[in-house]
Amino acid sequence: MIPTARDWDVVVVGGGHAGCEAACAAARMGAKTLLVTHKPETIGAMSCNPAIGGLGKGHLVKEIDALDGVMGRVIDRAGIQFRMLNRSKGPAVQGPRAQADRALYRAAMQRVLRDQDNLTILAGAAEDLALDPTGRAAAVILADGWRLTCGAVVLTTGTFLRGMIHCGNQRIPAGRVGDAPSLGLSEMLARVGVALGRLKTGTPPRLDGRTVDWDGLEIQHPDPEPVPFSEMTARITVPQVACRITYTTETTHRVIRDNLGRSALYGGMIGGAGPRYCPSIEDKVVKFAEKPRHRIFLEPEGLDDPTIYPNGISNSLPEEIQAAFLKTIPGLERAEILRPGYAIEYDHVDPRELAPTLETRRVPGLYLAGQIIGTTGYEEAAAQGLMAGLNAAIAVGARAADRDGAAFLLDRADAYIGVMIDDLTTRGADEPYRMFTSRAEYRLRLRADNADQRLSPLGAAIGCLSPVRAELWRHKETALSEAWARLATLRATPPELSRHGISVRQDGRIRDAAEILALPGMSLRRLSAIWPGLNAIPEPIATQIEIDSRYAAYLARQEADIRAYRRDEALRLPEDLDFRRIGGLSHEMVYRLSRARPRTLGQAARLPGVTPAAVIALMRHARRADGTPPVPPAGHDEAGHDEAGHDEAGDQAA
Ligand code: FAD
Repeated sequence: MIPTARDWDVVVVGGGHAGCEAACAAARMGAKTLLVTHKPETIGAMSCNPAIGGLGKGHLVKEIDALDGVMGRVIDRAGIQFRMLNRSKGPAVQGPRAQADRALYRAAMQRVLRDQDNLTILAGAAEDLALDPTGRAAAVILADGWRLTCGAVVLTTGTFLRGMIHCGNQRIPAGRVGDAPSLGLSEMLARVGVALGRLKTGTPPRLDGRTVDWDGLEIQHPDPEPVPFSEMTARITVPQVACRITYTTETTHRVIRDNLGRSALYGGMIGGAGPRYCPSIEDKVVKFAEKPRHRIFLEPEGLDDPTIYPNGISNSLPEEIQAAFLKTIPGLERAEILRPGYAIEYDHVDPRELAPTLETRRVPGLYLAGQIIGTTGYEEAAAQGLMAGLNAAIAVGARAADRDGAAFLLDRADAYIGVMIDDLTTRGADEPYRMFTSRAEYRLRLRADNADQRLSPLGAAIGCLSPVRAELWRHKETALSEAWARLATLRATPPELSRHGISVRQDGRIRDAAEILALPGMSLRRLSAIWPGLNAIPEPIATQIEIDSRYAAYLARQEADIRAYRRDEALRLPEDLDFRRIGGLSHEMVYRLSRARPRTLGQAARLPGVTPAAVIALMRHARRADGTPPVPPAGHDEAGHDEAGHDEAGDQAA
């Protein structure tokens, strides 16, 4: 660490999902870290849905865990209904999800933070940022005037920037219900010239489960054997519960339609864009008017908590209208509202203001992560927090000895985290961004099951794995490579295979066990009939080997695409590039490129509206500047952007 007179290496503002991950990541890297948050007792609070994971989101949690982040470990201690979504489909599209006991989740997160070395927690409200004479972030200033000097700042203030709650025509300035908004930081960001926008999101009413008529409602059971998110969790010991399902009715829709004018979302009180993929019930009733009913999951908020989270009816109608439409829903006719639903509108920063390290381009040393940069969801926030925390720590000199302070970046072929950060920093967020598996080009590679194989070696290289986690990974890595080595030594001829009921072409070619394992329907158990020694491979390693061999052929085909993609990413465009000086670019292209300021040729190609011709002009320019010989233009387009090809492969294998 670089010795300085500052109080802290990294100050993280906000104890939500991004802040917890950022603070732990910086501290794991050895940076002296302070987490300052309004109320330490709300650290780990889930503002909305009490659940972690799902399709795409579950992948993010596995990736966070592979880099020794905390979200996976915490949900393993708090999950009351684990389910693997898409279990009947292939591993590439399966997504782990768990409903949480809110209180257990908060307690587990607070315990993890308390136990983290190099991390201090302080109650306080950040109001401003002080810059040094070079314009670099140098201190966080609290509302009481206290100045926390530091090398880097990570802001993770969620929905709090000029937050405004709407419930019907009631407007309450708040970051979320019961919490004051954050005003000073919005002013600071505007003052330094950062582009701000306005977004909105909503939450459903909370119900008293003792007043719900459960009889006759559809039931959804947890998986019989819950699979932990974290590699560090041996097994789930929290009791598992079922949830129930009900549906809105035509009468519900009529009540909502009749009162749309009183909804903050539809009555014109809220201007910002909302999450298209997590629509309010007003949205659903209007946009999907042909649907006679919408599903509602009645999710318990805790083992000892009667509160029910009715997943699917977030809204901003007045409380009496919420009560009226609930009466029209089977099972909820007598349900009492513990807290009405509401919508919240807040400032966010255009993520195109950020470098892929999540550092702001305008203020060096200032990093942003979470809902503040236009995303929605705990997992998205946590994944960004992790990356911002790691890069902030690296920037102040943590674990820099053997890496020369190089930033820690993940690309679209490394991780869903890389996909998300590239999407955000390249394309911005004109509506709250949520992760989906369909956003990734290389889905067969970016599986939840292999997150540690993809990322733990990278984590070990930068030093962000704790010693225990690093040892766990080394052990697994050794076991995997020993198993593969063993498979490579076992060989059989076609007639030998036929004798064991395994049909292959009778071409006289001797095949090794790895190749045979890749055949459809094959398993290590079947192969052990030929080679009983394979029974010695421990169960989790055997499962991983089976999944990896199933995808090996598809992945080999994808390698050429990934090489071409990375070649484009390696062609860097200077930060101060004047696009007007590149021959062959139209005014529109100059405008789009100057606004987005892509760092690489690949990023330029992914910008909405940027034409292939513009990409070729840029490529020629970049190669000339680089001294690299030009390649035929056709190669670029074919290689980098054949999404249909990936999708086909994905569907087949999944
Ligand atoms: P948060 O979890 O909000 O944490 C922010 C933290 O920063 C808090 O601890 C706060 O006290 C602290 N803080 C803020 N300002 C300051 C300051 N100046 N000084 C010190 N501390 C500060 N997500 C979905 O995926 N689907 C949904 O439907 C959905 N609905 C939502 C509805 C509502 C009403 C709300 C509030 C959120 C909703 N979310 C939803 C979003 C989800 O809660 C967030 O995406 C997630 O919590 C973001 O994590 P974060 O770490 O960025 O912020």
